[in-house]
Amino acid sequence: MIYPWQTQQWEQLLRLRKEQRLPHALLFSGPAGLGKRALALEFAHLVFCQNSKESDASCGACHACHLLRAGSHPDFRVLQPEEEGHAIKIDQIRELSEFTQQTSHQGGLRLVLIQPATAMNIAAANALLKTLEEPAPDTLLILISDNRTPLPITIRSRCQHLRFLAPPRETALTWLAAQDPAVAWEPILAATQGAPLLAYQWQQGGVWSSYQNFMTDLAALTRQEADPFQLAVQWKDANMLWVFDLFFQWLLKWMRMQEVPEKSEGVLASALPGRISSGHLLEFVDYLQRLRLEALGPSNLNQQLMLESLFIRWVQYVSR
Ligand SMILES: [Zn+2]
Repeated sequence: MIYPWQTQQWEQLLRLRKEQRLPHALLFSGPAGLGKRALALEFAHLVFCQNSKESDASCGACHACHLLRAGSHPDFRVLQPEEEGHAIKIDQIRELSEFTQQTSHQGGLRLVLIQPATAMNIAAANALLKTLEEPAPDTLLILISDNRTPLPITIRSRCQHLRFLAPPRETALTWLAAQDPAVAWEPILAATQGAPLLAYQWQQGGVWSSYQNFMTDLAALTRQEADPFQLAVQWKDANMLWVFDLFFQWLLKWMRMQEVPEKSEGVLASALPGRISSGHLLEFVDYLQRLRLEALGPSNLNQQLMLESLFIRWVQYVSR
């Protein structure tokens, strides 16, 4: 699948292939929800398709195309956390280097997709670094990263970058309207920072309504009309990273609104308790980042406790 906003990156890939300048490792980086993985899969199809030697598209019908679609092409691997939200482990990277030491089954390239590359723990990242320092011939690694947690520079510097940016708003809205013309996409697209696929997933998967509920609750909390303990119970089963990202978005909007008050909108405007100094807000952002790191860590968290401290702290900030 090549989305309308990916033509530039696609052409870059085609050029690299045509000129036989494919590097050992490519890094696809950019916000989530832009279709980076879809483009990498499309490229895998092109590379392996038996009828694409002279063309820029896979046929979708040959043996290789079938194997890829079935997820069983012997020269293709996807490396991802064994459980969602968990780390990519060193054992997985070791298996990968065994895979790259074998000769390819079809006599061509071997391709490995690592997603999200930022999910590698330190041991895994170090092991991958070895693979990158002594690359196996005819192997292409594609690392996919959504920028939220930076990749170690030692890894980044050994990859050729392909950057993905949110498309122009009109492009995104046109695509979204084509998926479902009945939905009011603008606010969803704004909430997902202009990432069309994320907006689509949010709408389809019910995340959008959770988002609205969370923002309404935050506004009530800020006006001190909601109980932090009760809210913590209410949101304790949510994905903590999602919660922290939303809170972070909320703070950013807040800062912008304090700069340009006339742009205040929606629930946020109704929650304005008066000015909070930017120093205080930045302090809070710091605190939020620390909580986020904790949530990424290996320990079993008590999510309810974590949210209680977050909400109580926020009430303290806005009421002083
Ligand atoms: Zn084919």
